[in-house]
Amino acid sequence: MKQCKICGLRENYTNIHFNSEGICNYCEFYEAHKDVLEDKEKLEQIFRQKMEDAKAKAKAAGAKYDCLVGFSGGKDSTYIIYQLKETYGMRVLAFTFDNGFSTEYGRNNIENALEKLNVDHITFSMNDKLLRKQYSACVNIMHNFCSVCFHYMHYYSYLFAGQNKIPLIVNGRTSGQILQCADSTKGIEPFESSYNLKDFEYQMFHGLEERADKAGKMDYLKDTEAEAVSYFAYHDISEEETMQFLEEKIGWTRPQGVSGHADCFAHAMAEHMSIEKRGFPVREGELAVLVRRGKLTKEKAQAILQQDIENFHEVPKDIQDRFFRRISIQPNTSRK
Ligand SMILES: [Zn+2]
Repeated sequence: MKQCKICGLRENYTNIHFNSEGICNYCEFYEAHKDVLEDKEKLEQIFRQKMEDAKAKAKAAGAKYDCLVGFSGGKDSTYIIYQLKETYGMRVLAFTFDNGFSTEYGRNNIENALEKLNVDHITFSMNDKLLRKQYSACVNIMHNFCSVCFHYMHYYSYLFAGQNKIPLIVNGRTSGQILQCADSTKGIEPFESSYNLKDFEYQMFHGLEERADKAGKMDYLKDTEAEAVSYFAYHDISEEETMQFLEEKIGWTRPQGVSGHADCFAHAMAEHMSIEKRGFPVREGELAVLVRRGKLTKEKAQAILQQDIENFHEVPKDIQDRFFRRISIQPNTSRK
């Protein structure tokens, strides 16, 4: 199978194409914008300005919080809340979307972090029947369910931000997640940030959100404006550094699992579906970004992906059963 000479992405990857030298469109984009994407000082400046702007807006609106941050208990969201408070002096509202997939590990981390972080926190659960319906439909039609969490997590973030006049929503998407399908500056930070839910969803759905909106299938909270900022688009820090920092500062506990999603019990199902449907593990694009940026060798990335394929080729029966119980829309099913 054809592979990009630089990052190793293969021809079955989402919307990939290659130039005459065998280099993919994502590497070409990165090369052309490297000066901006890797300018640490400039990025830090932009980020700090955004925080100051948000404080001013929140103050003018009489809001109790400067920003809302989605909080899963994973390392990235915990780290962001810590930094926003301590380094940027932000008044943070931590927001947990309870989707029924949380793990004991994630819940313990949330509890421990909240004890140390000193922020207000909301846990929100939506209508469970509707949520199950959406998971089931998405699994059947798109062979995927992370997109449902992504949508509702951000839908309710925007709803809360709007209702409480919070001008900024900071998210924990990694630079790998942000850049994994970037071949134009549209919707990509630091080039462009989004100010409403639909523009924000473009980053995940690449046009599907436009079709859903036109068909009147989704509520995009048209009157709600809040800037969405991805912390890691402006801060270059490795997973290892993040974990060490949190261990030291708040006594955070590392996950024991095989891949970095210990806050969701169904992660193995998501990996399994990705490999079955798309032919590659969930983090193939994210690892390719690290290779492109010179932070990981192509060989090491290939080895990690091979390991993912072996790990998630089959999902243990108990996890499968629990997953299908969770998304089942039969009446009288228990939630967990
Ligand atoms: Zn490439």
